[in-house]
Amino acid sequence: MGTLRAGDLVFTLSRSVRKSVGLTIRKDGSVHVRAPFWLPVQEVIRMVSGKSSWVRSKQQTMKNQQVIPAPGPELNRIKKQALLKFRMIASPWEEHFRVRYGVAPKKWTVREMNTRWGSCSTATGRITLNLRLYYKPDACIEYIVVHELCHLIHPNHGKDFYTLLERELPDWKTSRKQLKA
Ligand SMILES: [Zn+2]
Repeated sequence: MGTLRAGDLVFTLSRSVRKSVGLTIRKDGSVHVRAPFWLPVQEVIRMVSGKSSWVRSKQQTMKNQQVIPAPGPELNRIKKQALLKFRMIASPWEEHFRVRYGVAPKKWTVREMNTRWGSCSTATGRITLNLRLYYKPDACIEYIVVHELCHLIHPNHGKDFYTLLERELPDWKTSRKQLKA
């Protein structure tokens, strides 16, 4: 198995008895190509070159989808760091909402969620932030923090909710877009 280049795309190539060329992008973003013995190396490079923009976009997506480690010391370390980071961003906002609107969450929780970035229970006063936010830009974390704080006043996504959100964080749409990227 050797390392080859197709333009500025680096990949490893392994040969085997097979009929077609297979291309795999690993979790770390590295590219591995499998090709039949009989296919000239120049032809392999040409085929990989043809896929380079697809490979690039895949690599970018993978970079954005940081993998949360399995339960263990590393996950605990990240949870601790995430909590510190979220607290640092949320504290001034919590104070602001307390002073301006007289509301405050009873508890902040951090946990891994798959479908939501955050949630707010007006019944319990608990705001939960998705651990995955840890890998996102601060502005995105701030947006979720403010979004959930606004729910303490307006539980649903009604007009009043968005009026409040817009007033507190006029640039929230940019952050939301970034979260979806
Ligand atoms: Zn919401």
